Amino acid sequence: MKIHEYQAQSLLAQFGIPVLPGEVATSAAEARTAYEKLGCEKVVVKCQIHAGGRGKGTIIDSAGTGNEVLKGGVHLAATADEVVKLAGKMLGNVLVTHQTGPDGQPVGKVFICQAAPRIDTELYVGLAIDRQAGVPVLMASSEGGVEIEQVAKETPEKIFKEQVDPALGLAAFQARRLAYRLGLGKYGKETHAQGADVMVKLARLLLECDASLAEINPLVVTSGGDVIALDAKVSFDDNSLFRHPDFAAWHDPSMEDPRETAARKLRLSYVGLDGEIGCLVNGAGLAMATMDIIKHYGSEPANFLDVGGSATREMVTEAFKIIMADRRVRAILVNIFAGIAQCDTIAEGVLSAVREVDLQDPLVVRLEGTRSKEGRAILDASDLKIISASSMDDAAKKVIAAAQAGQDRKEKGGSA
Ligand code: GDP
Ligand code: MG
Repeated sequence: MKIHEYQAQSLLAQFGIPVLPGEVATSAAEARTAYEKLGCEKVVVKCQIHAGGRGKGTIIDSAGTGNEVLKGGVHLAATADEVVKLAGKMLGNVLVTHQTGPDGQPVGKVFICQAAPRIDTELYVGLAIDRQAGVPVLMASSEGGVEIEQVAKETPEKIFKEQVDPALGLAAFQARRLAYRLGLGKYGKETHAQGADVMVKLARLLLECDASLAEINPLVVTSGGDVIALDAKVSFDDNSLFRHPDFAAWHDPSMEDPRETAARKLRLSYVGLDGEIGCLVNGAGLAMATMDIIKHYGSEPANFLDVGGSATREMVTEAFKIIMADRRVRAILVNIFAGIAQCDTIAEGVLSAVREVDLQDPLVVRLEGTRSKEGRAILDASDLKIISASSMDDAAKKVIAAAQAGQDRKEKGGSA
């Protein structure tokens, strides 16, 4: 689960990492109140979305015209009127950054934060899980402010790493070594110690909150030699959320793919993708294999969907509706190899969904395994136009051909 910057900043503060005071606002009027409450002259107004690169992003009109409203999702302001004007341009619109994809993410909140005193240098400090080593790793770089992925690609020698012992945390000597490598020594003992302290505390946050990512970019050193976190990004491991009931309030569904939110409510394993073939499959392995074979025959899946072994008729109906609501989908493939799941339950779910929503796209069904005969009989008895398939290969070829034929028909119809 991802959280917003203002929420991450509050976590940082809880763990004793220096941050600047800030207030969140959801309207221009609230932005004015927030500014007055902060009581400082210079502030930064920052769009709150679940993606980085906001500073270099573009705010576009939410009406879908694609019109640019404002360059950049992070701006300095020095009066209440400026804050209100900026918030007005940000709120209700969409911020597109290189991490959001072309559709961007809706800006429902802005964070108004006291501006940093003169910045001398911008650093990067981030923790993630090193899957090969099986432990968290702290990465630090003197090239802060910019995308760390770019630094990793172009100048990997500028990223310093320390593995974190999950039981002991980041050891003081490791933090001091990193602070030294970041060049904090030149600011004197105090700044060096502050930098090392931030790293130890950030590692503690990652471990205690079961975060999969905890990142400060930039961590700045002011001209006075103080170390302050100006931007924070934290993501939690979903499997640990039951241990942190207070984090639930931070869940923001407006930042998620609506297809995935709907699926999660049903406890379906669903991942939205960009292709054209909607897939309804049972079993993660079979779902992966189905995606592979669709790609093998030259098309792309619109989603990963594992309805699982214990899928009820209602779950299948709802799952089918999620697929049908996806405007990218041009044909649907139901691929079931039933062991625990039952083909007749799946068939009933498919039927009831198709009856509820007027299905325009071609539907290819492959049913094998437990009660497959009964399942096929249900579909055969219906008046639906279903293309039945006998094997994975057959199913993939048929669904791709059907998607193509549907597209050709549409194109011809459109030009006639
Ligand atoms: P991101 O682009 O999504 O990573 O958003 P950031 O919060 O990191 O802001 C982008 C950039 O704005 C930072 O790298 C800083 O250079 C700058 N910035 C952020 N906060 C302040 C601030 O308080 N004062 C000044 N002068 N610059 C800031
Ligand atoms: Mg940043």
